[in-house]
Amino acid sequence: MKPKNIVLLGATGSIGVSTQKVAADLPDYVRIVGMASRENVAGMEKAIQQFHPKAVAMTDRDKARELEQRIQSPVLTGEKGLVELATMPEADIVLVAIVGTAGLEPALAAIRAGKDLAVASKEILVMAGELVMSEAKKHGVKVLPVDSEHSAIFQCLEGRNPTDVKRLILTASGGPFRQTSREDFKHITLAQALKHPSWNMGQKITIDSATLFNKGLEMIEARWLFDIEIDRVDVVVHPQSIVHSMVEFQDGSMLAQLSAPDMRHPIQYALVGPKRLPNSMPPTDLAKIGTLTFENPDQDKFPSLRLAHLAGRIGGTLPAVFNAANEVAVARFVEGKIRFTDIFTMVEKTMNAHRPVNQPPLDAILEADAWARREAEHAV
Ligand code: NDP
Ligand code: MG
Repeated sequence: MKPKNIVLLGATGSIGVSTQKVAADLPDYVRIVGMASRENVAGMEKAIQQFHPKAVAMTDRDKARELEQRIQSPVLTGEKGLVELATMPEADIVLVAIVGTAGLEPALAAIRAGKDLAVASKEILVMAGELVMSEAKKHGVKVLPVDSEHSAIFQCLEGRNPTDVKRLILTASGGPFRQTSREDFKHITLAQALKHPSWNMGQKITIDSATLFNKGLEMIEARWLFDIEIDRVDVVVHPQSIVHSMVEFQDGSMLAQLSAPDMRHPIQYALVGPKRLPNSMPPTDLAKIGTLTFENPDQDKFPSLRLAHLAGRIGGTLPAVFNAANEVAVARFVEGKIRFTDIFTMVEKTMNAHRPVNQPPLDAILEADAWARREAEHAV
């Protein structure tokens, strides 16, 4: 197999660093030819010394200049820098692992330049799933999931006929408040919300895992990625995070994908799948894990799932509003300005105030996103 040339956007984050580890582990198969971040100069410098990418970018202009000084070679900058990297001629796959909405335009640019897209940033498919998937089809490129749940489903669906699929079942760890009573929800602190029981991830997604908004975003992601109605995307709580998701077929049989909760597994599969290359990751010891349990999510405690279902069913610009309002709410919660339970209220009120546009082009999506950010500020 010829090595895959990868452009890594969000190289210094949690997914970015795990991707670096995968590349270091499989040097004959994965080559990082471009990398970008926003402001982490030290993280970029270290990665550049290790991987010698052909081109690098930082969206923060001052930080880009600083990095330029340190590495004594040019650093692309601004949003344009991300698009330049995403379309560089050498690239085979562009992996987008930027937190927030800044990954959307480079993702579309990559598709239009004929690159396969590996998607970690949920925002891309949540905000613009319809557009991204239709562009990918038009340009004959693959959209490869990095999110562990979607990678699991992707693996279970391989070689299957779509009409044989009954439903997709996303597993959720349930987060740190699975057993916390509804009454105690209003006293939840930031420190408590940042303690994830099974995964070690960036701050935004860790809070989203505590509210289950992460699972809501993933329901919408799955809806577009696998072209299936949201009514056939279910969620089951599985606190051990070993079964990464499942597919139920018409005959009642289910397929699941299992592994230790380490993002290097789905990242590797996105980059070199369907090849099953040996790597240096520790094996998953099921006997040591002992018990795998499953339970239904508490929809009253976590209105996020109901809101996601609504956003996914109505579609249009509503998922972008769902995503943007949640982003604002999480930021205000992190700043200590609102309570944990206000996150749900903020998103619901913003969604209720929105008049969705159907089959939105990119500018309508970005407009809805900006509107939701302003609206959400007044919702609580
Ligand atoms: P982190 O916060 O750890 O990292 C974010 C990365 O994005 C950093 O490299 C950051 O650069 C970069 N970045 C942020 N804003 C910009 C911008 N405007 N321009 C360029 N780069 C930018 O996030 P995660 O790695 O946890 O998550 C990344 C995405 O992957 C999210 O959408 C998340 O939902 C998704 N995801 C994450 C999982 C995980 O296990 N962490 C699992 C599944 C999905 P800098 O460091 O310079 O600020
Ligand atoms: Mg996930």
